[in-house]
Amino acid sequence: MKTLNDFDFKGKKAVIRVDFNVPLDDNFNVTDDTRIVAAKPTIDKILKDGGSAILMSHLGRPKGKEEKYSLKHIVAKTSEVLGVNVKFVNDCIGAEAEKAAADLQPGEVLLLENLRFYKEEEAGDENFAKKLADLGDIYVNDAFGTAHRAHASTTIIAKFFPENKCFGSLLAKEIESLNKVLKDSKKPVTAVLGGSKVSSKITVIENILDKVDHMIIGGGMTFTFIKAQGGKIGDSICEDDKLDLALDIMAKAKEKNVQLHIPVDVIAADAFSNDANTKVTDVNAIPDGWQGLDAGPKSLENFKKVILESKTILWNGPLGVFEMENFSNGTIELGNFIAEATEKGAFSLVGGGDSVAAVKQFGLEPKMSYVSTGGGAMLEMLEGKTLPGIAAILE
Ligand code: AMP
Repeated sequence: MKTLNDFDFKGKKAVIRVDFNVPLDDNFNVTDDTRIVAAKPTIDKILKDGGSAILMSHLGRPKGKEEKYSLKHIVAKTSEVLGVNVKFVNDCIGAEAEKAAADLQPGEVLLLENLRFYKEEEAGDENFAKKLADLGDIYVNDAFGTAHRAHASTTIIAKFFPENKCFGSLLAKEIESLNKVLKDSKKPVTAVLGGSKVSSKITVIENILDKVDHMIIGGGMTFTFIKAQGGKIGDSICEDDKLDLALDIMAKAKEKNVQLHIPVDVIAADAFSNDANTKVTDVNAIPDGWQGLDAGPKSLENFKKVILESKTILWNGPLGVFEMENFSNGTIELGNFIAEATEKGAFSLVGGGDSVAAVKQFGLEPKMSYVSTGGGAMLEMLEGKTLPGIAAILE
């Protein structure tokens, strides 16, 4: 696996695919610079070597050239974060871009205009990729968030750099962290899978059953498992067409010696609302008119034991409707258990969508070993897929 350290960037121009798809407010101010900060180590290393950096990214989902999606809006913020005066060019290919790239001096950074102003980007057009490739000497992919897409700048471009291509430090860290969970993990390994639906997590569940010792199932998925076993779930969320699948997962877990842990009690509410009346009930005896919206105290005790004994922990998906304060306790507590285990030496990886949002919201991010930056990309890796953006560097 080639990384930045395999290259000396002195006198070289690196074309770097970054993910600067950052949120902007109505006045085009960057409201969250996490993604720019995340790319800084890669850019710093290249500049420190005496190279220059040509940054390419998408922003939003423009239909053709749309001013509001111009990357010019983020030049000031990028300059501030990187501590260099970032240059900007109005196009990502063509004469102007070529001139700006050719003029770039060691230590300088050039940001190209939004790649998605060309439909060729998402189409993975080879000609377009070649034009991007011609701008630099070494290709660096540091955009994990788009690594699962075979776009021109994330995948196709790599073929024009048969020797001179590598992962940026962010992407390398993502791959390393996932390998620590799925490949060279310390046992016992525990996966916590929450969220709303079995159907959206089924491929992940099936793939990781071979790699874990414990699997904790929580969130809305719980009720499909409970109903499948004949439990009474009241008005809780349930996928009736996935009951057999739930039983099948339970059988497979047993076969593979994976201990499955499902909530035994819940916080039930008489409406899907933060102001609803609540009570603690057994998970398989929820009265009609009530729905389980968070894990109950006994369940959390059980989960705590499992987590604190684990040496490797993967967390994907909240344990309850954490967006509502009254149903956020399970998710917060779970985060605290994982934080405690991490402090004691376990490796913890949080990845894929909502659990990342929860971890950030509750200030738990610094207490986890690694919090993934790519929702969809991480989920696809957990499903066991080889991401095209990663494969293109490895080839
Ligand atoms: P996912 O995108 O599949 O990871 O699901 C995340 C969503 O699941 C969050 O928006 C949670 O509010 C929701 N969720 C978690 N637990 C429950 C539950 N018991 N009932 C309904 N929704 C839930």
